[in-house]
This record gives sequence, C-alpha cells and structure tokens, in this order.
Amino acid sequence: MSGSRSYGIMGVPALGVKRAYQVGDVVEMRKPHPCGGAAWEVLRVGIDFRIRCLRCGRLAMLERRDFERKVKAAHTADAGVEGG
Ligand SMILES: [Zn+2]
Repeated sequence: MSGSRSYGIMGVPALGVKRAYQVGDVVEMRKPHPCGGAAWEVLRVGIDFRIRCLRCGRLAMLERRDFERKVKAAHTADAGVEGG
C-alpha cells in the first residue's frame, strides 16, 4: 500500500507588494498644500509623477521616490477607501 499525500501551498501572503499608482488616482499628501488642500489627482505616472491639487488646481511634479514618500493615503478605484 502506498499512499502519499502532498500539501500544496495555495495561499501566498501578499507582503511587500508595491502599490501601483494610476492616472486618475487621488492621493493624500502628508503635508497639505498651502492652499489647504491635501488631495491631489495623479495626472501622469512614470519616472516622474505629475499631480494636480484638487483644491486650487496647481500642478506639481515629483520624482517617483519622492512621491511615494510624501503620499499619506491613496484612494484608488481598486483598493477600499479608508475613511480618515
Ligand atoms: Zn492647492
């Protein structure tokens, strides 16, 4: 009698997954804009990110690394929005 049972690992924890930002995402910065608005819309992604203040409409450009450091929360279409 030979009985072998194999255990397949199905659930792989999704740790260390980088959040992918997309054009149209709304992000909240750690430091509010001087106008008082903290929400920005992503207009362009890539090596540099172009964002627009949703309150005053001012455009800003940040390096990706800089952008990711300054973002406090992101409200994407996919992820659930965390109320603050
Ligand atoms: Zn502003």
